[in-house]
Amino acid sequence: MIMALIHGNELCGAHAITFLHEHLTQPVKGRISLALGNIAAYRRFESKNIGASRYLDEDMNRVWSGDRLEGPSNSVELRRARELRPLVDKVDFLLDLHAMENTGPPLILSGPLDRSVELARWLGTPQFIVRDAGHANGTRLRDYSNFSSNDHHHTALLIECGQREDPESARVAIDASLKFLLSLDLIRPLPSAMFQPLQPMSSQDTIQVTDAVTVDTDAFSFLIDVEGFQVIDRAGTVIARDGDRPIMTPYDSCVLVMPSREAKRGQTAVRFGHVVTD
Ligand SMILES: [Zn+2]
Repeated sequence: MIMALIHGNELCGAHAITFLHEHLTQPVKGRISLALGNIAAYRRFESKNIGASRYLDEDMNRVWSGDRLEGPSNSVELRRARELRPLVDKVDFLLDLHAMENTGPPLILSGPLDRSVELARWLGTPQFIVRDAGHANGTRLRDYSNFSSNDHHHTALLIECGQREDPESARVAIDASLKFLLSLDLIRPLPSAMFQPLQPMSSQDTIQVTDAVTVDTDAFSFLIDVEGFQVIDRAGTVIARDGDRPIMTPYDSCVLVMPSREAKRGQTAVRFGHVVTD
């Protein structure tokens, strides 16, 4: 499955789905599902207020647990997730296409399991593979059910294709989708006149995320100009304040992963990680 628009304002995925729908023929084997997640939020998309159409009631990438999906609460996003769930349950391999609010290089969020990191390496791009355990405030589609279980082959990747307003993010989304399908031997390469693939990286960097900073107050702010994959040399460097609480890097050569200046209470403001050398 290739999923787009889990966040209604991340259009790169919708471009990729449109491209794949137009250009893919019968798969060599298996079945390819192209899915659009939060269509209701996407329909509210306005270029003047891009942030507003990420979701309508709640983040659709935090509802993917049995508790939430089978629980009593209701929202636009839960209803859509419940609708998609029977199909997602049949999926062996998932690529979930996203884009970022902040500028930064594309990256794959592989989750914690080895087999997902391995699949990310088969893709050969983008440069950064972030090995993480998700968020405190709910379960991502990438972490849903069998995608997180050690007993199954089901494998899911989330790719952040770049900044959400950067047209290049659509090319990254198409490229990653094709590489994903090629890695699984589901399609044959498309003629280069149809799409020019991005060069695979000579090497990819795996970042092991050790901590996620969840915002606890209404007064969170970064004290430095943060950038994705910025390395903070010294342990104990205060990079942000959350109310009275100083947010410090836990070790030397700490990598800042996906800092978000707009993170609100309960959301992830930044993750700390270190480079894994094989
Ligand atoms: Zn997203």
